Amino acid sequence: MAKVTFQTNICKGCGLCVVACPKKLIELSGGLNEKGYHPAEITNQEACIGCAFCATMCPDCVITVEK
Ligand code: SF4
Ligand code: SF4
Repeated sequence: MAKVTFQTNICKGCGLCVVACPKKLIELSGGLNEKGYHPAEITNQEACIGCAFCATMCPDCVITVEK
């Protein structure tokens, strides 16, 4: 199983990673980070296939995928 982590404090809530995930595992949080954006989060870590499309898509290198 892959592990996906987000540097939530630097996410700007652009949603590119949400669109990029082929398994539709990422959504924007209802809460706000310290910059005032809704940060991305993974909904089901167990279902992640480790493709790293989300990390590749993120313009701010918020996402790390470990296999
Ligand atoms: S690594 Fe792939 S499957 Fe896992 S959250 Fe990112 S885009 Fe989705
Ligand atoms: S692509 Fe990066 S900056 Fe945009 S919502 Fe996803 S994690 Fe945040």
